[in-house]
Amino acid sequence: MNGAAGDSPDGGGRSRRHLAWAAATVALVVAGGVGSVLEAGAEGRSEGDRAHESFEASSANVASTLELAIQHDDDLVVDAGGLLTDPKLSQTELVRWSTAARVSQRYPEMTGLAVLEMVNDADLPGFAARAAADPQGPVAPGGTFTVVPEGTRPFYCLIAAAISIRPQPNALPSGYDYCADPLVRLVLLSARDSGRGAYLPYPSDGQTWLAIQTPMYAGGVVPTTVEARQAAFAGLVVTQLDPTVLLDRALRDHTRMSVELRYQVGISDVLFTSGKTPPHADSTTIDLHNGWTVRTFGPVEATGITHGVALTWLLGGIALSLLLGLLMFVLGTGRERARRQLVQRTSQLHHQALHDPLTGLPNRALVMDRIEQMLARDRRLDAAGAVLFLDLDDFKNVNDTLGHGAGDRLLDAVSSRLSSALRGGDTIGRMGGDEFVVLVDGSSPDVAPELVAQRLLDVMRQPFELDDASTPLTVNLSIGIATGDRDTAGQLLRDADIALYQAKTSGKNRYETFDPQMQTDISRRTDLEFDLRSALAGNQYRLVYQPIYDLADLAVVGVEALLRWDHPTRGLIRPDEFIPILEQTGHIREVGRWVLQEACQQMATWHARGDTLDVSVNVSGRQLDDDSLTTDVRDALRTSGLSPTHLIIEVTETALMHNVEATAERLRDIKELGVRVAVDDFGTGYSSLAYLRQFPVDCLKIDRAFTSAVTSSPESRALIDTLVQLGKDLGLSTLAEGVETTDEMDILRLANVDQAQGFLMARPLDPASLEAQFLAPTRPSAPPVSVPVPGD
Ligand code: C2E
Ligand code: CA
Ligand code: CA
Repeated sequence: MNGAAGDSPDGGGRSRRHLAWAAATVALVVAGGVGSVLEAGAEGRSEGDRAHESFEASSANVASTLELAIQHDDDLVVDAGGLLTDPKLSQTELVRWSTAARVSQRYPEMTGLAVLEMVNDADLPGFAARAAADPQGPVAPGGTFTVVPEGTRPFYCLIAAAISIRPQPNALPSGYDYCADPLVRLVLLSARDSGRGAYLPYPSDGQTWLAIQTPMYAGGVVPTTVEARQAAFAGLVVTQLDPTVLLDRALRDHTRMSVELRYQVGISDVLFTSGKTPPHADSTTIDLHNGWTVRTFGPVEATGITHGVALTWLLGGIALSLLLGLLMFVLGTGRERARRQLVQRTSQLHHQALHDPLTGLPNRALVMDRIEQMLARDRRLDAAGAVLFLDLDDFKNVNDTLGHGAGDRLLDAVSSRLSSALRGGDTIGRMGGDEFVVLVDGSSPDVAPELVAQRLLDVMRQPFELDDASTPLTVNLSIGIATGDRDTAGQLLRDADIALYQAKTSGKNRYETFDPQMQTDISRRTDLEFDLRSALAGNQYRLVYQPIYDLADLAVVGVEALLRWDHPTRGLIRPDEFIPILEQTGHIREVGRWVLQEACQQMATWHARGDTLDVSVNVSGRQLDDDSLTTDVRDALRTSGLSPTHLIIEVTETALMHNVEATAERLRDIKELGVRVAVDDFGTGYSSLAYLRQFPVDCLKIDRAFTSAVTSSPESRALIDTLVQLGKDLGLSTLAEGVETTDEMDILRLANVDQAQGFLMARPLDPASLEAQFLAPTRPSAPPVSVPVPGD
């Protein structure tokens, strides 16, 4: 039998076959050409990548030059600090030292260096005599030393010796008392007490200069306690820099780049720049830590398929396709290749089904499978593996503010960083969204899952650099851990998830290990959350009032309104348990409005009977996020008729810091009504010291933690003194919370704290008890025995 017509050995059949091969060859050449163009494009891009890489390398170089320079300056300061151990340091000596140390040659950025001493009023004559006696000193022969501004103060911050290395901006008169300015005094005192240097930028002559204050102590080391630091304090070395000199030096080998050096801590936010930023610049930001960041800019290199290596690729690619096409035409075979492709494609599909396309990590299905395998293996080996459930904190904000593209890139970066922190045997997978799971194999018992969790938290501390975010992003995560045997993978994962929830509710950026009690807590919380929705409508809230005393005469001057929830079946519930839920659900706004109304109404009623107490109302951070707070305060005052001067709003230090500018603005609006503002739990978030001036605040409520430590630790005592002094400097009154013993009360009175509240004097009372015990007509002036409210 002859084969099919196409196989007939006639010339027509052969030419048809040739035609088919020719067509295939043309197709190959066309495909090869297209491929070459694509490859050339990719090469163009990777050339761009290389240009970017070289830019990154230059940036790192600039940043490390700057970092070294900052350290270099610090070394000089330590060296100069040695002079402070000499009790009779003179100008002559400082000049001799700086010549020997070749300061002006080695530190071109330095404009001046000074040694500053804190001189008690009693020691001033001695200091003045030394200044006048020094032949190179600031006082002209026969002249007298005077303090500027004039006046007697407990102590003065005076320059003991100073050298001017290069022309400096407006020098202050010798004898100038730097501590006459309360803010500078605060900076200097906190440098003394903390042992850390302070950077103070100051503008002058159209540019910004930098002054660095470094505290020095006897013996050359920083003592470990505040008290010891105060005792051993010798003075401060102050250096003045022209930062542009540093920047120009860092850019010397990178002429096409520009650089921004930024110092951002507390209220200090200064930017020093050098070089011209090219249009469409590539930029990168490097964190030097301690508040310094370096941002560099460089030109974007021209790339594309008609440039450089890419062009070679294009031409070469086309030539290669032609050759290959010829070869194919000659060999005329493609079957083997087709088979290979099929195998490859199948395994690709298999991989895709089990891996997350974004990060390439195992997906939920594969993770579940691996947990099952781990459980089975552990049962066999009698080991206990663990599952870590990870979830990024507030990841939604990234998507909301930077877009989903940036969110995806961040997730990818997070997954690589997490993977890099794990051992080879551990599996990491992505469950979806911003959730990851890590399996810690139980067969190597040397690694506790808690240690792995801690390591994962640690690697996240370093911020992420995303191209589209102007500042590096810090992303934290919370981790739930579940260890040991379970019937199914799902159960182990669920327990890890419960622990994760616990980690989230107890503050995030931490890990928690599963404990069956958590299950109960979560159920209670969920129930409470549900019940809270009807608490306001059901009249289940009430206010209790804790008296506030003036410590000078122990008279009651006001009360703090504190919220209570009478749950219909569970009884009294404390605010520490339900307020966080109200804050999370946002219901705190309407409940807060009710508290304001109720407290003002109650106080107005008492005023109508002749009382004059103030009422303090707690306001949560969530309420401050919203402009309606001012309206709520105004409404509460209007409907109750209470005079605004008798209302105090308490805002916690952390809430103030949340959104500094908007919060300051809202508080100013509220203050314009005549209402006062107190900072609650003060001292627990130290960062705000520098911000305080920005907020219109009247009173600092010193946190209970300091009050209760005051009898046992000299450091807390020193801290109370500092806080009181701070209050005085800024014109604020101080109140100590949580006074429980007479010893505490005595110390607070000695420290000149203005007011106090606490169980020693009175617990929070319901209105009837308060009325009976404290209010007109017979308000006692000494603390009576208080009758606790049931449940308090
Ligand atoms: P806070 O504002 O610091 O209120 C002082 C808390 O300390 C009160 O707890 C009070 O009962 C307690 N306290 C007072 N003196 C002493 C003492 O000598 N020793 C001890 N151990 N504790 C003392 P309370 O009433 O349980 O309130 C807890 C927190 O709940 C408050 O802390 C405040 O942050 C919040 N809170 C209470 N009521 C409201 C409210 O109406 N709105 C908002 N947003 N938060 C509120
Ligand atoms: Ca309070
Ligand atoms: Ca408080």
